[in-house]
Amino acid sequence: MEIILGKMGEVVLKGQNRRQFENRLLSTLRHRLRRYGAFNVYAMQSTVYVEPVSEDADGEMAFEITRRLFGLAAVSRAYSCAKNVDDISRTAIDRLSPSLGAAASFKVETRRSDKAFPMTSPEISREVGGRIAEAFPALRVDVKTPAVTVYVEVRDRAAYVHTDPTPGAGGLPQGTAGRAAIMLSGGIDSPVAAYMMAKRGLELEGIHFFSYPYTSERAKDKVLRLASILAGHTGYLPVHVVPFTAVQERIRDRCPEEYFTIIMRRSMMRIACAVAERNECRALVTGESLGQVASQTLAALAVTEEAASMPVFRPCIGLDKEEIVTISRRIGAFETSILPYEDCCTVFTPRHPRTKPRLADVLEVEKAAELEELEAEAIAAVERVKTEPLLEL
Ligand code: ATP
Ligand code: MG
Repeated sequence: MEIILGKMGEVVLKGQNRRQFENRLLSTLRHRLRRYGAFNVYAMQSTVYVEPVSEDADGEMAFEITRRLFGLAAVSRAYSCAKNVDDISRTAIDRLSPSLGAAASFKVETRRSDKAFPMTSPEISREVGGRIAEAFPALRVDVKTPAVTVYVEVRDRAAYVHTDPTPGAGGLPQGTAGRAAIMLSGGIDSPVAAYMMAKRGLELEGIHFFSYPYTSERAKDKVLRLASILAGHTGYLPVHVVPFTAVQERIRDRCPEEYFTIIMRRSMMRIACAVAERNECRALVTGESLGQVASQTLAALAVTEEAASMPVFRPCIGLDKEEIVTISRRIGAFETSILPYEDCCTVFTPRHPRTKPRLADVLEVEKAAELEELEAEAIAAVERVKTEPLLEL
């Protein structure tokens, strides 16, 4: 039978709280696997086991879900068999032939937690290695730098064989760091910021500012699709859509042009904090990166942040665009992020935005715009949209 093994990552360093993190990891995994058949999910010695128990259990999807699960450093497909060298060797030769057949060299590494097993680990490795070498005459043994390592694990209930694991998603289990709101624009940066913070154990809810008719239904659909792509990693990511048109028109009508963006950013912060608080989110996350555009200079970020009433996390702050794009591609968001779209940030863009705004000046201009009532109306009219995780293979 094919099973999935996941090696826990940072979770194992958690000392006293370790059990809590482990339980969260397991319950998250069980929950996500539920729609793909019945699986037995348990942990032993820093390893998570996923065993299919129903006929219809979908092993491919289970592997994809496990590979994406935050908290696991590595994952592999393993094959279980009876605890004797005949069965272990046969299983390795049959099941691992795709990698063994393509490699030039190999070694066998054995771990034995069943100390009652009649052979030692080196003896098992030698015996199984000998039989593999017989079955694949082109394959040579190389214990120092093998192209493929065959792992044999002799456990209490069964033996398992597998080859080199693939990297897991890393990070910490969903929600173990609390909950935050990600400001999702539809660009490249904010989905990456969402992924990075979810990886650190934050459960996320999205907030999107929508300026119909300046931004279209299609732009909103694009953001919801990005949220679904993210939910394929984070498991859960509803989006709160904020109708932002009236606020933006008021800013356009009452503020000097060079202040449009900074006042709008501050308004977004206030509204986002209110929406976040209502949904028990304790921080905001944005995709801002230092110096990328006029509203992301240190001075502009400081003036923007002054309007926030909770911590603002900006995980992309020190990343270059290229580094952000690499993550975007890896999480499957890039192709959607680059679809042409309008964002409310690009609706009334000043020709010459202030790159070094002074807080005192901004506060004065903002006061004249009298935004409180319009902001309260926007908050009251927020629409919460559920998203379905997208798990394209
Ligand atoms: P992105 O690639 O995420 O769009 P950006 O580099 O284009 O970011 P801005 O457009 O200045 O930068 O936006 C900075 C951040 O503000 C975004 O990363 C996002 O977190 C937030 N933001 C921008 N527009 C919106 C929006 N319409 N709704 C929600 N959040 C937004
Ligand atoms: Mg943008």
